[in-house]
Amino acid sequence: MRIAVLSGKGGTGKTFLSVNIASAAKEAVYVDCDVEEPNGRIYFKPHIISAETVTQPLPQVDQSKCNGCEKCVDFCKFNALAYTGDKLMVFPQLCHSCGGCLLVCPTKAFTEIPKTLGQVYLGVKDKITVLSAEMKIGEASGTKLVQNLLENSKTYKSFTFIDCPPGTGCLVTESIRDADYAVLVAEPTLFGAHNLKLVYDLVTLYEIPFGIIINKSTGEENPTFAFCRENNLPIIAEIPYDKKMGEENSKGKILAEENPKWEKFFSKLLNTIYREAKSEKTAGFKR
Ligand code: SF4
Ligand code: SF4
Repeated sequence: MRIAVLSGKGGTGKTFLSVNIASAAKEAVYVDCDVEEPNGRIYFKPHIISAETVTQPLPQVDQSKCNGCEKCVDFCKFNALAYTGDKLMVFPQLCHSCGGCLLVCPTKAFTEIPKTLGQVYLGVKDKITVLSAEMKIGEASGTKLVQNLLENSKTYKSFTFIDCPPGTGCLVTESIRDADYAVLVAEPTLFGAHNLKLVYDLVTLYEIPFGIIINKSTGEENPTFAFCRENNLPIIAEIPYDKKMGEENSKGKILAEENPKWEKFFSKLLNTIYREAKSEKTAGFKR
């Protein structure tokens, strides 16, 4: 089973929840798809078994073969090519590596060179497999890194927890594409309700069954409760506001490993998520 954990903004508790339920599962795969800020490794401190460089083909032009016909410029819908003066220019940040310019060029002026996007790491911590990546500084898109991580994760049969990037951008949509169930983490505030709506709209669009977990809950009435009630959305659990939890989490500690009380709490939370994900009666189930 593949569980995606997402939230409408950073700092909501998405990684906090992901690492703790993965740890409570004892044997699991944890995939950190937040390739721009991969924090999961700070918690797990895994032993790194392998590192792979992920590249993308980038067109390179031999100016001596270019006759200035601009067929490639007209073809490129991403505006990654421009002919200025007597020179063809390639803008790597805009290129989507479709390879079209190589096909349309009548003089075969293009070749492809690999462009490094970042590194993908395979690590282990006890029986937890930790897959994470680091996007190269200055790189515009981490989509290919996320795709690589998710493909790698499919080689394992264990319970898989996908720690998504924050928000609802293209890296998030890529991260949830093959998820069986989504856990939406939200804070009990007006801002939290707004961010919850963003991820709720996203999982609904992708028809992914979901449940909501309210983090830092005081149990009192709040805008996130109201939003869920008005839209008949399933709140499957609440994580209480707990200063000690926050302090230990901020030190990069996995609470489920710290003491039996917290281990029991996250095991129970994991069971709830598993039960809801399996249940076709969940209100958020769309398929
Ligand atoms: S590979 Fe595709 S996106 Fe990149 S420059 Fe060529 S046509 Fe444009
Ligand atoms: S299609 Fe080829 S020959 Fe024409 S401008 Fe582009 S690189 Fe030059």
